[in-house]
Amino acid sequence: MKRLDLYGFKSFGRRVSVELEQGLNAIVGPNGCGKSNLLDAIRWALGEPSARSLRGGRTEDIIFGGTKDVRPLGMAEVVLTFDNTDGALGLPHHEVALTRRAYRSGQSFFAINGVPCRLRDIQDLLARANFGARSHVLVSQGTAETLAVSGGDERRAALDEVAGIARYRHVALLARLA
Ligand code: ATP
Ligand code: MG
Repeated sequence: MKRLDLYGFKSFGRRVSVELEQGLNAIVGPNGCGKSNLLDAIRWALGEPSARSLRGGRTEDIIFGGTKDVRPLGMAEVVLTFDNTDGALGLPHHEVALTRRAYRSGQSFFAINGVPCRLRDIQDLLARANFGARSHVLVSQGTAETLAVSGGDERRAALDEVAGIARYRHVALLARLA
């Protein structure tokens, strides 16, 4: 990922553009400054369907709710821009930008390189590039802690998820029953 553009997502009431370098990128800042919100934004733009897993209850919770001095916004937008010079995303463009918006009215909007599409199209694009399963793994605050103190089964389930084989568990069970 090359760049992350946010507008109206959670605590980001103003337009924020984050350039990412190749390799390791670190986000540092005091408690509550928006570090986890930044990761939520990435997860959301990658097609996360549930607002709950973004530490919010409803879709509205991800839209900037305003502060003492700043008015709330009516829309949240996140744009992820990927370098695609190696064609890994299967599209004939050097850059691929994924846009996701949510409006307070309940409407949503998705686009790939500015062309409107469905959430499903973004999920399919990433799945084809094997992005969902193995290459992108987000371990959130709390999960890391749970993993560190969890027992075998829980840890195994997490590893299955990371390896992208969690969805085959039922198949394996059925095979054993057959
Ligand atoms: P920590 O170091 O404690 O983990 P953090 O940098 O990860 O902190 P976040 O969890 O990203 O912090 O940000 C929390 C802040 O985001 C809170 O102040 C909360 O009020 C604000 N916030 C969350 N959702 C919204 C929203 N919809 N509108 C405005 N502010 C929001
Ligand atoms: Mg945090």
